[in-house]
Amino acid sequence: MGQVMVSRRLVSLHKARLSGLSLRTAVAHHALGSIPAQYSTVPDFDHTKAFRDLGIEDTNHGVFHGKWGGSGKVVQSVNPASNEPLAHVVTGNSSDLNQAIENASKAQKIWRDLPIPKRGQVLLAMRQELHKHLDALGTLVSLEMGKIKAEGVGEVQEYIDILDYALGLSRCLNGLLIPSERPGHVMLETWNPLGLVGVISAFNFPVAVYGWNSAIGLLTGNAMLWKPAPSTPLCSIAVTKILERVLAENNLPPALCSLVTGGGSIGRSITENKRIDLVSFTGSTPVGREVGKIVQGRFGKHLLELGGNNAIIVMDDADQDMAVRAILFAAVGTAGQRCTTTRRLFVHSNIYDSVVDKLRQAYMQVKIGNPLHSGVLCGPLHSRAAVQAYERGIQAVQDQGGRILYGGKVLDRNDGEIYGKGNYVMPTLTEVKPDMDIVKEEIFAPILHTMKINTLDEAISHNNSVGQGLSSSLFTANIASIFKWIGPSGSDCGIINVNIPTNGAEIGGAFGGEKETGGGRESGSDAWKQYCRRGTCTINYSKTLPLAQGIDFS
Ligand code: NAD
Repeated sequence: MGQVMVSRRLVSLHKARLSGLSLRTAVAHHALGSIPAQYSTVPDFDHTKAFRDLGIEDTNHGVFHGKWGGSGKVVQSVNPASNEPLAHVVTGNSSDLNQAIENASKAQKIWRDLPIPKRGQVLLAMRQELHKHLDALGTLVSLEMGKIKAEGVGEVQEYIDILDYALGLSRCLNGLLIPSERPGHVMLETWNPLGLVGVISAFNFPVAVYGWNSAIGLLTGNAMLWKPAPSTPLCSIAVTKILERVLAENNLPPALCSLVTGGGSIGRSITENKRIDLVSFTGSTPVGREVGKIVQGRFGKHLLELGGNNAIIVMDDADQDMAVRAILFAAVGTAGQRCTTTRRLFVHSNIYDSVVDKLRQAYMQVKIGNPLHSGVLCGPLHSRAAVQAYERGIQAVQDQGGRILYGGKVLDRNDGEIYGKGNYVMPTLTEVKPDMDIVKEEIFAPILHTMKINTLDEAISHNNSVGQGLSSSLFTANIASIFKWIGPSGSDCGIINVNIPTNGAEIGGAFGGEKETGGGRESGSDAWKQYCRRGTCTINYSKTLPLAQGIDFS
């Protein structure tokens, strides 16, 4: 997937540039806040071709329930690279939402009766249609979210991959046949659709999160109702137009994939509405906590994919160069705005100086600039608010006694024309102590806190000491360390990696995290069960009525 492509680019760039640059020269170039020459100053990108391909206009309907409309506020979608508007969207209000719930629920009654392998064929058609628009959609992700184009395309590829996965699953959604203690009886499990799945998604994966949910949610026989992040409505409109075409071509009601754009109030209404059987929420822990309480209060189902505070541990027997390349991708990729971004780094004290020096050199090679330009590895932050959060984080590190080892600066007009317009910051390395408050927070920006450790036990204890429990990674060549790490005394996260970064998960595994990350699982493995109601069926095919546990009731 795209992440692999990006990782390869990071590696080759890193190697090529490093070979010609000694540590001493590199450090001499760097004074905190200075801008190395490889920063990108190429101006903006012409997006008209991608918009035409995807049917995005200057003003767009932001509601789809079989028909396009919208009676809510008109909002601007803004390019984080320039803070200029990309297009306008007429968002939805509560009556649009009610209509979407009504129409999607009706569509589900038709869809649920389709045999599962037939549903798989429709998902295959969606896959083909998405593939035709891969480049345009990847470009739109890059334009609207701000991630580099390779990652934008990778995100759409992830949606394509999960549709492939769902197609395969359509032939093997197997249940259980369970031995019965009663003669002439059989027990089995059925997995039937829940009904309507509401997907509330975050800005940082404006296509893939819906992709994961809709591929598996549809396959299992549900209708989908999507409320995207308020700042990425164009991606959701483009995707919904593609799905609409495929459903219509297959004589299915397009309201099966309904869309209501809007802000937190639409999200809250989805959360409260009893007709929405499962609320799949991806976003921050504070909002997710409220969503969880409200959905639980009405005994609905929820699937929560919340914040992370992910750590990499590097032991002194690890391959240092491999670790450094992985850390760079995990901490700087997507400008530090993945839920799986590495935010904490624990390095064995024997190799701490060497690893941090290598990292600093690697950071100096990262080209920052317009995410649609080739060679750029770090685009802007998504919003001005994110830049402020970055600044607050840098200040807090210093206030709490930490040090900035590299970066720590917002790029402004003095650093180059394009930086003044967009939300650009320098990827940052700090040196802190594990007990500082700042280390416990998820700052959604490229700030990596480095810390020394002396033993694996100490590192695991620090890894597990934060509220979040999404992703974690250990670099080691020691087999005993690996099995400790993945065992009962190891990492308490949902994703437990060895010798790879914390990010870049494949769709075949169940994705999600423990503790304040919410406990939900999406994508592969048996995550499909979250979109189903389970029936335990006991069938008597005999002429008698024996009771369980040998009870005689005559
Ligand atoms: P956010 O919590 O601000 O918003 C997420 C969504 O919730 C948006 O669509 C928003 O409009 C909606 N919302 C806001 N208030 C609501 C309410 N009261 N009720 C219902 N919905 C409401 O998050 P964000 O800034 O868009 O995304 C970044 C966060 O998402 C980070 O914490 C990141 O770690 C997390 N995230 C987690 C995963 C994961 O899989 N664990 C994946 C991506 C992002």
